[in-house]
Amino acid sequence: MFDVIAACLCVGLPVVAILYFLVFSIQWKRERRLIAKIVASATEVQMEEIARLIESCGTETPTAAFLMATGESTPDKTTLIRLPTNIPQFPWGGRCVTLTNDEGNIPSLSFVESDFEGIVCLGKRYRTVGVPKKKTKTGKSKNIYDIERMLSASPQLVAALKELYPKSPQTLLVYLLRTAPAQIGGPPGWYQDPEVQKCPKCGRYMSLIVQIEDGSAMVYLFGCRAHPDETATLYQLD
Ligand SMILES: [Zn+2]
Repeated sequence: MFDVIAACLCVGLPVVAILYFLVFSIQWKRERRLIAKIVASATEVQMEEIARLIESCGTETPTAAFLMATGESTPDKTTLIRLPTNIPQFPWGGRCVTLTNDEGNIPSLSFVESDFEGIVCLGKRYRTVGVPKKKTKTGKSKNIYDIERMLSASPQLVAALKELYPKSPQTLLVYLLRTAPAQIGGPPGWYQDPEVQKCPKCGRYMSLIVQIEDGSAMVYLFGCRAHPDETATLYQLD
């Protein structure tokens, strides 16, 4: 008898866990579609205000940017990212980056001449919002990526999010900031060991311009702040 119960528990628990995961992912996909509609129909003033409040969770000028979801899709999977001009010591501001996957299936990022003003990444539209930056007790500045910290730092942000999605401001903020596959500036997020890049002209470490998650690969574009035309692109597999 105990053997049967033990066997049921052994077989049953993973099944329950898988079912729970399936139900959860179906619910999240459904909720994400609903939130995408809400965000797509929000006014420019509302989204500007949310972006401003996110940035104001910090005390310093942002040196990196999130791609914030707009809830809008594009018919193709093109990637064109117009880099923001308000990041300090970021000489690539205003330039346009594109993602290519050549015949050898090697993904790369490069600058491209384009009249396109917005941001499209893998078939979805985004806007940029500065990653809030705060001075720590030791005097160093640190980026705030944590959703909970942003929400607890700004009741105004919670109120602005609630205006759009009263059920859960947290879920809305996760959708806005965590569903984009890209990041502009800031420290690179490595899939494998760091592959720091050095400028061939001055030998200094290059900075991250943008990184994009393309399927199972993370694609990076680095550049030298002193020699902005010296760039390097590479990718790492998950
Ligand atoms: Zn250099």
